[in-house]
Amino acid sequence: MTTLSQGPTAIEELGDWQRAVRDQFPIITGHPDLAYLDSAATAQKPQAVLDAVQTYLTTANANAGRGSYPWANRTTALVEQTRDRIRRFLDDPAPQRSAVHFTSGATEGLRTIARDWLPGLLTHGDEIVVPAADHQANIEPWQEAQQQLARQGVHVRVRPMPYQQASGDYDHTALARLAGPRTRLVAATHVHHVYGGNMNIHRIREAVGPDAVICLDAAQSVGHLPVSVADLDVDFGVFSGHKAMALPGTGAVWARQARGPAFTPGGWSGTPNTVGIVSLAAALDWLDGVGTDRIERWTVALASRLTDGLRRLDSYEVLGCQTSLAVDSPVQRRQGIVTFRHRDIGSGDLGFILFSHGFMVRCDHHCQGAGGEDGESVRVSLHVYNTVAEIDRLLAVLATLG
Ligand code: PLP
Repeated sequence: MTTLSQGPTAIEELGDWQRAVRDQFPIITGHPDLAYLDSAATAQKPQAVLDAVQTYLTTANANAGRGSYPWANRTTALVEQTRDRIRRFLDDPAPQRSAVHFTSGATEGLRTIARDWLPGLLTHGDEIVVPAADHQANIEPWQEAQQQLARQGVHVRVRPMPYQQASGDYDHTALARLAGPRTRLVAATHVHHVYGGNMNIHRIREAVGPDAVICLDAAQSVGHLPVSVADLDVDFGVFSGHKAMALPGTGAVWARQARGPAFTPGGWSGTPNTVGIVSLAAALDWLDGVGTDRIERWTVALASRLTDGLRRLDSYEVLGCQTSLAVDSPVQRRQGIVTFRHRDIGSGDLGFILFSHGFMVRCDHHCQGAGGEDGESVRVSLHVYNTVAEIDRLLAVLATLG
């Protein structure tokens, strides 16, 4: 199926479904004059998540892992059940062997792996590959681990993951050339937070072989499309709960425990974010119920519509994924993130103008690592609550700016 014909079909097919889903977001329905187009920063919460939080706080709030009265037992059970919920959500191939560790978000998850686990994997002369054009949350922790190891006399090499601006994907041929027997870990991103590319993780595995660890930053894919760690053959999956419709301050590391040492994040970390964990379980239930496959089709269709519209306007340049929407492309590579610039109007000013018309977008460097720094741009990031009307209104406003 081609991407250009898939867009309208998805919109026609899913229109009634989407209207019913959108109605479940009180903040969206309560502000009909505003369009929230910043879901890559954080997602809005459906009523089911708000209800789960309210119910928990008014019927069972207690600490987890201590106390033996019913509320404490219930809280402990909810935390443990959420670990299993995450395993199921991510299509864990061996749930009896994997570990799930709660974090405050993807950043803390990646940092925990790099700080607590990576030193046990690496010896002097080993190499890791780090995605220098991606979110700094998936760069800095690895560089810090390299410095920490160097202080102990263990020198490891950090190599930048080759990236192709035009395709919006990693350069797998170049990766295969640079990977060798000392390549122990590849840190990759599932969906790029600026360019929207759905990175081909299978080709990373082909390029680096069966033994290297792949750590997947799934911050922009969990909640947006089906994510199967079994199919992707990755060793770590890291995500932010708040981008997947749970409360802020939630996230998780899923660790397969098959390649390298066991993942046992350091020491006693005190009271967990129980309310956040409850919200995360409710969010994953809700997402599964609605269907991440349909969420993906909807947001991809909206992103296609926006990208096509922008390409018809001479003053705008769309960043990344330049070939991904080709009619003959077998794969729809761009997910629901579209980033662009105006030829003459600065991105900050463009953001102001857009907000004066009710559009909430992000306009800055998007926390991108220096390896992919494009300067400031405007990012529109979509979720299931966004509509065709919002995209068409946005394009109409952008068209008036020359
Ligand atoms: N990784 C990617 C790809 C992201 O887009 C983000 C946030 O935007 C992060 C990691 C960091 O997530 P958090 O701020 O929730 O820790």
